[in-house]
Amino acid sequence: MASPVPICDICMTDNITKPASVWCSECEEAICNDCERQHDRMGLTKNHKTIQVKEYQNLPSSVAAIKQKCIGHSLKFDFHCVIHDEPCCVSCVAEKHGTCRKLKPLSEVVEGVKSSAAFADLEDRAKDISALIGDLVTKKQNDRACFGVQKNKIISEVQNVRTAIDNHLIKLEKDLLYKLDNMEKKHNGDIDNFIEKLSDMRKKVEKICVDLEKTRQHASNFQAFLSIHEWNKKIEIEEKIGCLYKPTS
Ligand SMILES: [Zn+2]
Ligand SMILES: [Zn+2]
Ligand SMILES: [Zn+2]
Ligand SMILES: [Zn+2]
Repeated sequence: MASPVPICDICMTDNITKPASVWCSECEEAICNDCERQHDRMGLTKNHKTIQVKEYQNLPSSVAAIKQKCIGHSLKFDFHCVIHDEPCCVSCVAEKHGTCRKLKPLSEVVEGVKSSAAFADLEDRAKDISALIGDLVTKKQNDRACFGVQKNKIISEVQNVRTAIDNHLIKLEKDLLYKLDNMEKKHNGDIDNFIEKLSDMRKKVEKICVDLEKTRQHASNFQAFLSIHEWNKKIEIEEKIGCLYKPTS
């Protein structure tokens, strides 16, 4: 937001409001074009340096807030106390800095400050820290990009492992199904063979039953008596085989 244009402080003393065009930091006054001419001609102020109002408004607020006059005594600062590291007016000197030995004229202290090593050092340090922050930001941006690449690599590795596991499981399933099929075929074949054997046995036993019936009906008692021994042997054989195959449960 642009600051409002300041009003000429000199005209204001006559209750006239006129927009200021320059700022005199020594008078600490905003000055209009007309008053500026007078300011530049008068003996006390003709050596004052003025800046455009726009430039004054552009000053950092903490710098613009630094005043040339002592607030307590409303007098211009004329000295700098090295011990207290502060500017002082003549009244400040009398009240507070009477015993301070290192009082210097303010004009001497501020002379050439903008080209001093201290000011250059501040500028260098500010530039260095700015460059350092820039480097850190670049490094962090690179870190972010690297992490993205790493992430994609990990995702692709996980997918590869997953595919390998899937393929392995498919193969295991296929092998198992193949074995199961073979086991089923063998098992069914064994059962078929067994049923065939049992069928043969049954035919023999049924034949014995039929022959026994015929003997009971048609043979003489003598014939039946003598044949009992033969039938016993035959039935014993089938009984033995039947016992072998008898289900256990
Ligand atoms: Zn004016
Ligand atoms: Zn001035
Ligand atoms: Zn003072
Ligand atoms: Zn002092």
